[in-house]
Amino acid sequence: MDFTVDAEFQEKLDWMNRFVREEVEDLDLLFPDGGAPYDKHNPLSQAILKPLQEQVKAKGLWACHLDPSLGGKGYGQMKLALMNEIIGRCSWAPTVFGTAAPDTGNAEILALYGTPEQKERYLRPLLDGEIVSTFAMTEPQAGADPKEFVCKAWREGDDWVIDGEKWYASNAKYCSFYIVMAVTNPDNPPHERLSMFVVPAETPGIIIKRDVAGMNEPEDHGIHGYIRFDHVRVPADAILGGPGHGFKVAQSRLGGGRIHHAMRTVGQCNRALEMMTERAVSRRTQGRLLGDHQFVKGYLADTAIDIEMFRLLVLKTAWMIDNLPHGAARMNIGMCKVAMARVYHDVAQRAIQLHGALGTTHETPIAKMWMGVPMLSVADGPTEVHKVQVAGALLKKAVPAPGLFPTEHIPTKREAARRKYAHILAETATAAAE
Ligand SMILES: Cc1cc2nc3c(=O)[nH]c(=O)nc-3n(C[C@H](O)[C@H](O)[C@H](O)COP(=O)(O)OP(=O)(O)OC[C@H]3O[C@@H](n4cnc5c(N)ncnc54)[C@H](O)[C@@H]3O)c2cc1C
Repeated sequence: MDFTVDAEFQEKLDWMNRFVREEVEDLDLLFPDGGAPYDKHNPLSQAILKPLQEQVKAKGLWACHLDPSLGGKGYGQMKLALMNEIIGRCSWAPTVFGTAAPDTGNAEILALYGTPEQKERYLRPLLDGEIVSTFAMTEPQAGADPKEFVCKAWREGDDWVIDGEKWYASNAKYCSFYIVMAVTNPDNPPHERLSMFVVPAETPGIIIKRDVAGMNEPEDHGIHGYIRFDHVRVPADAILGGPGHGFKVAQSRLGGGRIHHAMRTVGQCNRALEMMTERAVSRRTQGRLLGDHQFVKGYLADTAIDIEMFRLLVLKTAWMIDNLPHGAARMNIGMCKVAMARVYHDVAQRAIQLHGALGTTHETPIAKMWMGVPMLSVADGPTEVHKVQVAGALLKKAVPAPGLFPTEHIPTKREAARRKYAHILAETATAAAE
């Protein structure tokens, strides 16, 4: 495994680092609302955003997650990981760099399964940052297990008709189109019952019942749509990947999304550690700097170690995606998803503690980090589901013990070792007796 960065790419990372800190973080301060990066109709934020996006494009760093065929750089996950560590520092940066979720995953779906007309209508403006999109999979009665979904679609003449409800569909109120999952083949085996559709937001019958706010968003500024699709009619080619292939289509986007979240979380954690070290050498108590107290040193060391371990897991996983056959990194992607929530929790908690009362306020970025912790352990599948998947992959390779005791049973192994070296042990014993 090689995590070396060549000089030319390091220069790009250095530029990104300065640019995000000096230019992009201003957007977070001026437009802190969680939905603000997705609102294309705010003239003020757009007036600041557009020139920043132009600078990113001029540097050749726009939408780098994409293949060259779609206008990206084809950098691969390793380079993306290093870029996302920087992009992850603030909430506007993904929009400034053309890598905001769920648009990235939706773009992947359209690139893989869309018709030429759909690519022109939805994918091109999405990649150009002109519109945003929504991924509508979760339902009010079921999320982690798509086999429980009931929103359905059926053929009527040349059309598909979609009927049902979706829940927590991020950015619904800003989106130009939805990617919607619905049951089309109820009699098929469980993993072949669902299909994926592209649905323009202006289609009659789409009702946003409520904009749900996460706990890190103001209650009246929610961005996650609770949506009713009331006999929504779309043309036959709106189905992506064919009837019954919804799971396969969904998997093509979720893997990438999960590792990108993990990469950005490294950036958030690094920001928290920077704040902690600055605080440790700035504030005094009991006649000494905070950083001179052993407990505080412990917080700093544990935080740096947690981040480094997590970062190396993410980089290794990115390397595996780039270098090994498709699917080989699956277990590692699950490990990243689980570690991400745990490390983020521990880092944010220590950062709050070290900042005392200030840490508990909205006056530092740590508050947003802390309130983002539960999102990371639920969104894109709960921690438990990923742990089960990781354990499943381990157990698949595991072999039962050959006998009553484990293969590592010391008396059994010692007995085998004695048998193996019996001739030497016997000779030595005889020599000693003589
Ligand atoms: C910030 C955020 C953004 C999101 N954006 C979107 C979006 O854009 N589009 C979209 O469709 N959805 C979105 N979601 C929804 C997300 O995908 C679901 O919340 C997630 O899949 C879990 O589903 P659920 O909330 O229904 O939880 P449930 O499925 O009800 O699970 C609840 C809890 O039950 C336990 N559990 C569940 N399954 C298992 C299991 N197999 N083994 C053991 N325990 C289990 C876990 O503790 C889990 O947290 C988003 C969620 C968040 C928090």
